[in-house]
Amino acid sequence: MKIINNSYDLYEWRQKYFARVFCRSLQANFSAKTVDFRLFANLTESGVITDEHLQKLQNIMRNETMAAAVLHFLTELLPKRGSKAFNLFLEALCESQQEHVADHLKMWLGDVCSEDAGTFKSLRAELQSHYERRLASIRPMPWLQSICLNLTDVFVERQLKLKTNHKGDGKTMKDLFTPQETKAIPRRLLIEGNPGIGKSTICQTLAHEWGKQSCGGHCGTVCVHSFDLVLYFHAGDFIDEESVAHAVQKHLLPSDYSITTSELQGVIKAKNVLIIVDAFDEANAGNRTLDRLIQGDILRHKTLLITSRFNFLQNKLSFFDSKFKVQGYDEEEQLQHVKRYAKHKNIASAPFESMLKDKSIRDLCSNPLNLTLLCLLREEDTQLRITRTALYTSIHRIIRRKAGERMDLTEAEVEESLHCSCT
Ligand SMILES: [Zn+2]
Repeated sequence: MKIINNSYDLYEWRQKYFARVFCRSLQANFSAKTVDFRLFANLTESGVITDEHLQKLQNIMRNETMAAAVLHFLTELLPKRGSKAFNLFLEALCESQQEHVADHLKMWLGDVCSEDAGTFKSLRAELQSHYERRLASIRPMPWLQSICLNLTDVFVERQLKLKTNHKGDGKTMKDLFTPQETKAIPRRLLIEGNPGIGKSTICQTLAHEWGKQSCGGHCGTVCVHSFDLVLYFHAGDFIDEESVAHAVQKHLLPSDYSITTSELQGVIKAKNVLIIVDAFDEANAGNRTLDRLIQGDILRHKTLLITSRFNFLQNKLSFFDSKFKVQGYDEEEQLQHVKRYAKHKNIASAPFESMLKDKSIRDLCSNPLNLTLLCLLREEDTQLRITRTALYTSIHRIIRRKAGERMDLTEAEVEESLHCSCT
């Protein structure tokens, strides 16, 4: 038998289940005769209820029934009397010769707990396998689904700059959830950065890492694996969804997955959950649920990580405990990026490395998305000397070819339609 004493989670949980559980117990075991004044006297003695409570209960007994008094005690008083109250109540039951009721209750709670644990375990397994499969690759150009790279192969660990800290200390993703000045684990985190700088890849990596289930000891003290559940969303997933649970059902779970919204809400409430929301800037207008989430109007005690381009959350900054800025690649990271790219594609890295030295495009290389696109171009034509002019020509050519493939036109036809639309 599991005696539950984890105060906060149980507290909410108990409120939810108590009435149901105990009403059955009540019908099966209690009769007005067997519960007498001794039980409440015991409870007063052990401090579970005050004299004032006792009086109220006696009034209910007098004016209504004993069962009504017990129900009031269980649903209104007990859940508010601290984490030890429940076990004291069980003891009081035993002392007033009602051990069978205590046993029955324990049995009931045990059942409900294991039912709960089963729901949670299967939900977690479902999400983990979803992330592992769906987030394994990066598509640098969403409009070209055929170009995809393996996330684990090409991901370069990102530098984050903590904005709340005046020193602007460099942080890595390992430090993301590490408590900062307040010493408390941050509940609202913001990562800001320019387009293409890698915000989405950070989110994707976090969810994918969590999907792999264990750190293998690589992570810091508080890492993504510390969370029971990770819910990974695009900001747009919350539009027209009245709650996070609804969004999970619609966007993260298959439609034939059987869990009710209230079961899902129960699991989210009870567990240590990280909610990742990518691209606030793309879907912030009229996003009521997301606003409530940021403000802590819902799920205040859960950890929320949001990414956005700069200046989209100006009037909401005060809600965030930790604010980070994603830095562009330094030279070392650029080198690492092209090397990983070449290795992933199983080709020599020298042409990519020499590309990095070209003055005319150097400023583009600090942006990971641009650098990936440059690598793709370079791979198309290793003879190509990438200058800005050559770059635009190649981009033009690549679009013409890919668009041709997609629209089933010859390159000449695409070219013609491009010129028509320009004039
Ligand atoms: Zn970890």
